[in-house]
Amino acid sequence: MLPGLVNNPVRLWRAGASRTNVEVLSLFMDRATPRWDTVPSMPTRQVCPRCGQDWVHSYRFIADGAPFSLCTECDSLWWPGEAVEVAHAKFLDDAVAERLGVEGNPWGDLVWADVIEPAPDHGA
Ligand SMILES: [Zn+2]
Repeated sequence: MLPGLVNNPVRLWRAGASRTNVEVLSLFMDRATPRWDTVPSMPTRQVCPRCGQDWVHSYRFIADGAPFSLCTECDSLWWPGEAVEVAHAKFLDDAVAERLGVEGNPWGDLVWADVIEPAPDHGA
């Protein structure tokens, strides 16, 4: 296909393409319009912005199912609705201590599997 036609749906339409094809092409062009660095990244697969060593995983508290995002490499935690950025990162230990009502290290005899568990990714 000629580049000039691709960039001009109306001209393509007049050139004999079906209306459906023109609409699909227009839709594609609309979606391709933003610069790539302004397109939001997919939320289900994001590298931890703090350590860059792992994906940010969906987790939840076993007690009440409260969801959060967690990097299992550096224990950074983000609550739902927060941008997964270094500036918003919490520390898992602090969040757990707060929920359990203890100060300092909340784990004691606990391990992760006693308190939190991986959650299915959104939309999965
Ligand atoms: Zn991390």
